Amino acid sequence: MQTDRHESICHLIDESLAGEISGQEEQSLRKHLLTCAACRQYLDASNRAIAGLGGFAFETDPNLPDIISAALTLRAAQLESQQLSHRQLAWSYVAALVLTLAGSFAAMQLDDRFATVFSATHQQVQLGLIALWIVPSACFCLLLPTLPLMSKRWPHAKGLSL
Ligand SMILES: [Zn+2]
Repeated sequence: MQTDRHESICHLIDESLAGEISGQEEQSLRKHLLTCAACRQYLDASNRAIAGLGGFAFETDPNLPDIISAALTLRAAQLESQQLSHRQLAWSYVAALVLTLAGSFAAMQLDDRFATVFSATHQQVQLGLIALWIVPSACFCLLLPTLPLMSKRWPHAKGLSL
């Protein structure tokens, strides 16, 4: 009967390694392992076999891990550069926005002084500021988000048209 007991414990060990064991079964397994060297040895051998299988899986195709790690490295580099360009883009966008706001603010504040200095009307000064400052910086603001798209499409466009 002792052999049957060991066999059922060995079966439990197999199940535990596959992760299909109940808490009660695990308890009786642990209890048996404490007192039985033969079953502890079986558990050790099974663990080693599984570890060996894990190593073997990577050896079946020696190129596969290289390909995966190369792809992961490339993807990580892409994500990093994307994040960097997004951050740079955000800062450029903020700078352009500040320029536009500063231009509008200057237009309001310096309106009278410009009118006096250049002996122009308020309307002329405002038009001048709008044409020379606000419109260019607003265009800059609007164009900025399209820059990454343009730079992404550029190599393809170059290949087709040039
Ligand atoms: Zn045993």
